[in-house]
Amino acid sequence: MKIFSTCHNHCTMCDGKNTAAEMINAAIAAGFTDFGMSCHSRFAPEQNSTIKSDDEYIDAMRLLQKEYAGVINFSVGIEQDMLAPVKKRSAYDYLIGSVHSFFNERNGTYYSVDASPNELKACIDDMFGGDAPAMVRAFYAATATNARKYQPDVIGHFDLVTKFNDGDKFFDENSAEYKNTALDALAACVQTGAIFEVNTGGVYRGAKSEFYPAPFLLEALYEMDAKITLTADAHCVDAIDFGLSQALEQVQKIGFKSVFLLKNGKFNEIAV
Ligand SMILES: [Zn+2]
Ligand SMILES: [Zn+2]
Repeated sequence: MKIFSTCHNHCTMCDGKNTAAEMINAAIAAGFTDFGMSCHSRFAPEQNSTIKSDDEYIDAMRLLQKEYAGVINFSVGIEQDMLAPVKKRSAYDYLIGSVHSFFNERNGTYYSVDASPNELKACIDDMFGGDAPAMVRAFYAATATNARKYQPDVIGHFDLVTKFNDGDKFFDENSAEYKNTALDALAACVQTGAIFEVNTGGVYRGAKSEFYPAPFLLEALYEMDAKITLTADAHCVDAIDFGLSQALEQVQKIGFKSVFLLKNGKFNEIAV
């Protein structure tokens, strides 16, 4: 079976490299029947990496949805950062809930865990006194809170905190402490009934050698009978279906018998 839709994609209305129409055309060329846009929710103070206004984004996307009706089922989602909740969730077809950043109240600074190794290092030093495991604990605590508080349809890149940690540069991903911290948050997120994404974006961008989430987390998701979807978190047309067949193969090997995919505008359980 071939993956025929993805729900996690970006365009030039946030930090994507291609316009939404270019992304949709690439999805059609890839043989998709459905495609969902999920720009980053508006972050204040104003940032180039997020949408500038919910209304402007929704209007533009709904127009495209009409234009492409009958060609591809286009859905209008949002990737909501925990620190940037949308005003009106019902205006979107679905919501991806993600944790990307910490806010340091003492100096009024945001630190992304996925922007650069230097920014992650500054976060660990400035907010956690150089204690990387403490940062990791805070990240997963935020992830669990985000899932409970906002009940997203999809949990975005569950272990994004590992993006710049290949080779255990900042913390030991094989330690029992790390695994238990991540697994506790995973179980809390599963409780909400959300769909977890297997996200190939970190590998596409050359930051990681494995997809999010790590294999031990995927195995735990399988054991907990959790729902999963496959996404490329595409920020450009070349990434539109990157790694989806490998991700599918990986989850099938673990034992998953189905994935949740957008079909006719809704998440449907698809046997694989
Ligand atoms: Zn994200
Ligand atoms: Zn994204």
